[in-house]
Amino acid sequence: MPFSSLGLSSALLKALAGEDYTQPYPIQQEVIPAILNKKDVLGIAPTGSGKTAGYVLPLLMNTQGKAASRNRHVSVLVLVPTRELAVQVRDVFHHFGSALPERIKALAVFGGVSINPQMMALQGTDILVATPGRLLELVESNAVHLSGIDTLVLDEADKMLNLGFREEMNRIFALLPQKRQNLLFSATLSDDVTHINQILLHDPLVIKIEPESENIDLISQLAYFVPEEKKGPLLRYLIKRDDLQQVLVFTSSVYSADNVADKLRKNGIDAISIHSKKRQEARTSALNKFKSGSLRVLVATDLISRGIDIKFLPHVINYELPRSPKDYIHRIGRTGRADSPGEAISLISPDEQHHFKVIQKKMGKWVTMIDSENMDLRG
Ligand code: AMP
Repeated sequence: MPFSSLGLSSALLKALAGEDYTQPYPIQQEVIPAILNKKDVLGIAPTGSGKTAGYVLPLLMNTQGKAASRNRHVSVLVLVPTRELAVQVRDVFHHFGSALPERIKALAVFGGVSINPQMMALQGTDILVATPGRLLELVESNAVHLSGIDTLVLDEADKMLNLGFREEMNRIFALLPQKRQNLLFSATLSDDVTHINQILLHDPLVIKIEPESENIDLISQLAYFVPEEKKGPLLRYLIKRDDLQQVLVFTSSVYSADNVADKLRKNGIDAISIHSKKRQEARTSALNKFKSGSLRVLVATDLISRGIDIKFLPHVINYELPRSPKDYIHRIGRTGRADSPGEAISLISPDEQHHFKVIQKKMGKWVTMIDSENMDLRG
């Protein structure tokens, strides 16, 4: 089924043709017509499935013709759990929005940076992409009104309902008009998501995409059994031996992320850490450098394992395992996207061995484990 049969305008079709978007992804085939018809949608779809364009394209269409005449009343609200995802989603709105004859203004607002520029920028905004806390601050200062929302999108809803956002979310829901379109996207169908689906959605189109398992087959996974204190030397050895040029390393804590990045730098490997304790500017700059290929190693906590799309990322290394098997799948899902196969390596200490078994069982795949004992890590 081509994009041209989904009801999109010729301007958007032209923009799509200029990209490598030759065919709509399965989720797009289903959700684009439904969103254009103002239906509610429940999409169980992980990052990488193409869900963002799936809602961005039809929402741009639906917003045309009602451009912000109503002062500080936005018509589309997209709620996301992290600042990085807010920026990423806004960029997709900007990218495709720029192809339209009419100007549609999309803005991202999030905490951790000064609120004033966001207040000013809200004037004339049609589509607002927001993290919940900052959105409420802006509402309280009368910088934005939510009573005219036509469509609410919850992206990565499972994460949002998990992260202690619930109270903020309830306050936001209370500010929205009763009659509106709701689009809910979540990587997994947890109890929280089922619950919110029941209160929020009206006769939704339900679509479930499971590329994670397909995706996992695209990823070659390998593990090294290594004592905790040898993880640093092994990491450096692997990066040097295999001449890895773009590596995302995951750690389980902020402290560890900083520490690993420091050690890499001391050993002549260009690395920066990214986590919740870093200033927003530093996070954005690190991610941009990494995405553009000018930074060799990004050391991250699970802050960025979800939602962030990095094209053609060939290598992910779990320096430490995440607590949940789901997070493991999200982490390694940063590689092996679309048609580019990737490699995921996990460094497993004796303490993590049992947990790694649990993860493999959950994933339904067994990973080859190499004992690093006889490896000469100085070599
Ligand atoms: P998402 O799941 O929204 O994070 O999208 C994953 C990636 O797929 C992004 O890099 C998109 O640019 C890309 N993408 C989305 N839809 C298509 C499509 N129909 N054809 C090719 N690439 C796509």
